[in-house]
Amino acid sequence: MRTFVYAANPARVVFGAGTRGQVRDEVQRLGCSRVLLLGSPPLADVADEIAEQLGELAVARFDGAAMHTPVEVTEQALAVVREHEVDCVVAVGGGSTTGLSKAIAVRTDVPQVVLPTTYAGSEVTPVLGETAEGRKTTRSSPAVLPETVVYDVELTLGLPAAMSVTSGINAMAHAVEALYSEQANPVVDGMALDSIGRMARALPRIAADPRDLDARADALHAAWLAGTCLGTVGMGLHHKLCHTLGGTFDLPHAETHTVVLPHAMAYNAPAAPEAMRRIAEALGVADAAAGVHDLVASLGGPTSLRELGMPESGIAEAADLAVAKPYPNPRELVRDDLAALLTAAWRGDRPS
Ligand code: NAD
Repeated sequence: MRTFVYAANPARVVFGAGTRGQVRDEVQRLGCSRVLLLGSPPLADVADEIAEQLGELAVARFDGAAMHTPVEVTEQALAVVREHEVDCVVAVGGGSTTGLSKAIAVRTDVPQVVLPTTYAGSEVTPVLGETAEGRKTTRSSPAVLPETVVYDVELTLGLPAAMSVTSGINAMAHAVEALYSEQANPVVDGMALDSIGRMARALPRIAADPRDLDARADALHAAWLAGTCLGTVGMGLHHKLCHTLGGTFDLPHAETHTVVLPHAMAYNAPAAPEAMRRIAEALGVADAAAGVHDLVASLGGPTSLRELGMPESGIAEAADLAVAKPYPNPRELVRDDLAALLTAAWRGDRPS
């Protein structure tokens, strides 16, 4: 018999193609009338379209979100919130824009309507990572969780193929680690396995044709499920390593996840054989870790930390940091074994 505790976060999810047309209704459903619209330069035209739809409800606009949610940027946005007596945030963009929305919400308690345009999954988690004076801190609170998520598949059609692959594997990492999480439970397992299979089938179709709406729908659906896994159960070695590598060597978020995932899986495989068997089955391969590596390689994604700009001399430091503070993981965290993992990831070896 399996013993578990299951706790879900509240969520209102609107999913489809063209659903951005429902943003005004969703804002009014929350009882709000003074919206701060958060956009980002590559998606400025989408934010313009939503501003037009919101009409008099849109009282302010801020397009300055940055990676890792710097507190200085949040302060600038908060000044806009105060100046315009904002009572709701509508955010259109990837994890960075969602991060700014969450940073505003946790300080003001204004409700959020988020329209994600990548597969990062932040929109369905109560977690906020921020940087102040070069240090990244993370907090988790119900006030961080967006009230409404509007998934509009059409907003992802312009996500370049290479970013789609890395962002998709970033999502897959949430689902993989959910399956061997300490808090794993049957509901989350089901979401994770559906997500892994769906994403693995979608990415080759997106790489072949980035404007394939059905493939994009599968990938966004998979990203939602994976984000829900991330927001519901604790993550392990893979997320810890990516956090450490990103913070220490300033490596790009989704790309780092893409390189590290097969190696973190290979490390944990002996201690989580059932999870790996189920992941391999979802991927339709014999070995889960090698299967993820092969998927990334076949799509032309990054496979080595070297190509992301990490110095080889950083491996020892990263291994030290990875064992500095204990955290739950199926396999014991052994410094030299982690150094071997990082060496393989740095070189871009195929896990065997
Ligand atoms: P991002 O939001 O920084 O986006 C990367 C780039 O892609 C940006 O230049 C963005 O403007 C552009 N872009 C986004 N969508 C696009 C689209 N549809 N078409 C064209 N360009 C587009 O990157 P990300 O990977 O989505 O998010 C990474 C950030 O999110 C990190 O800071 C990470 O820590 C955070 N994150 C947080 C959580 C959480 O639960 N708190 C979860 C996942 C990620």
